[in-house]
Amino acid sequence: MKKYKLLILALGLVSLKASAQLGKPKETFTRADTLRGDLTTPLRTCYDIGYYHLDVKFDIDHKFISGSTLFKFAATQDFTKLQFDLFANLKVEKVVYKGQELPYTREFNAVFVTFPTTIAKGNKDEFTVYFSGNPIIAKNAPWDGGIVFKADSLGNPWVATACQGMGASVWWPNKDQQADEVDSALISISVPTGLQDVSNGRLRKVTDLGNGYTRYDWFVANPINNYDIEANIGKYTHFNDTYDGEKGKLTLDYWVLSYNLEKAKKQFGENVKDMIKAFEHWFGPYPFYEDGYKLIEAPHLGMEHQSGTAYGNHFINGYLGRDLSGTGWGLKWDFIIVHESGHEWFGNNITSKDLADMWIHESFTNYSESLFVEQRYGKQAGQEYVHGTRMNIVNDRPIVGTYGVNKEGSGDMYYKGGNLLNMVRTIINDDEKWRNILRGLNKTFYHQTVTYDDIVDYISDQSGKNLKPVFDQYLHYKNIPILEFMVIRGKLNCRWQADAKGFNMPVRVKVKGGDYHFIQPTTWFRPITITNAAKDNIEVDTFNYYIGVLVD
Ligand SMILES: [Zn+2]
Repeated sequence: MKKYKLLILALGLVSLKASAQLGKPKETFTRADTLRGDLTTPLRTCYDIGYYHLDVKFDIDHKFISGSTLFKFAATQDFTKLQFDLFANLKVEKVVYKGQELPYTREFNAVFVTFPTTIAKGNKDEFTVYFSGNPIIAKNAPWDGGIVFKADSLGNPWVATACQGMGASVWWPNKDQQADEVDSALISISVPTGLQDVSNGRLRKVTDLGNGYTRYDWFVANPINNYDIEANIGKYTHFNDTYDGEKGKLTLDYWVLSYNLEKAKKQFGENVKDMIKAFEHWFGPYPFYEDGYKLIEAPHLGMEHQSGTAYGNHFINGYLGRDLSGTGWGLKWDFIIVHESGHEWFGNNITSKDLADMWIHESFTNYSESLFVEQRYGKQAGQEYVHGTRMNIVNDRPIVGTYGVNKEGSGDMYYKGGNLLNMVRTIINDDEKWRNILRGLNKTFYHQTVTYDDIVDYISDQSGKNLKPVFDQYLHYKNIPILEFMVIRGKLNCRWQADAKGFNMPVRVKVKGGDYHFIQPTTWFRPITITNAAKDNIEVDTFNYYIGVLVD
């Protein structure tokens, strides 16, 4: 049928011979990639990090930073040597253990420290790394990150950190992987007196150091991943509010440049409470009541810094004023407030162990945008939004990246990932169950780091459906599956063309004018059991399903 042929053409990038596209493009990885991305080396697994006190002074005039990190850890095995990470362009001044300087060696961005005696399994211990240098200046934060040194419109210094992907060791020493999070952290940032630092968690103390610098101590009472730890330095003004949420009173604190105060009050007032209401409904309680919710104006677009979301959307709706769905729904709310805050649940509460599974952060958070739209404007609006974002999908390579080398996959983790989750909801076909799964994920993996299987198995188990082949196809392969119809011996048959083993996604089809039925094709042709189904009257739910359809 013409309609279906056109649909195939419209899909453009989708090959009909999906099986010819098996495998991932060949990439080569270096020793430096492995040092950074390998989660399994004993030099990293030998210690479980529990607490950082990060103490960094920003000499803004010279774009120079200096300070220390205290590592508190528990030994998971006997060891004498461990690895921590610090970018090679920063100098290690010394590593101190029980008042004694420790020998260390460096290789790329890794530092190896040898202790004078064996640290025994189960022991709790600590060491401090002193460092200094000129950190990498972000070329295009938050994507190509580092430290942003800018000035506000009044000429005041405005400095921010943004290091997702590249890693927090671009500006302070730490065990730089997502699999191991501290339980709490103290962040001390010293800034030229007259400026303010805003970091994660709650402000504990402000100390005038008497040398032209003032130190701000921020305490984070919850587990936090490294790239979320932030410094935002500028001439800020503060206002606040509270929200009566599922776990009681949630403090809302806002730090913006003084000349943006009125715009901020209006924009935050119109977006934040609705956002928290929607996400608590769908995902469960905001995961960090102890640390509060904050928005901090930043000299870049935004970043999901835990309990201190960096905000740079210029107090306008949409994504810098654009609607990523092309439906109109995306212009009715502030994209950065909604998207970055969605990460408090997926990304910050639930963190992927390996950067290759960044889809756990971005697919769910992209999907959260449509749930916000649904909560505010109804289910149809949310469905239109998620469907509209398909125009941004490129199907260039798999969404899952390469494990063990700190490499994320395709940017399709956003829009294709969001469409995948909406499809999974369609398959489960029970919105209350789906909501309980989303809430259950946040409860079961509360403040934890997770793997691909943790998430996919949980959704399969809770839904009572084996959704592994569905996730597999959309996350591990670049092509979308194609539902192929063919008349065999006078009967309409169909099958899936797909890469994933055992692909058998249930799909909604109907004969023209009738109701939708779920059928569950396999990769072998089987007759369709819907009465009167024929080549010229069969219709597939391609609004909810992101698939190709082929009628032979
Ligand atoms: Zn995101």
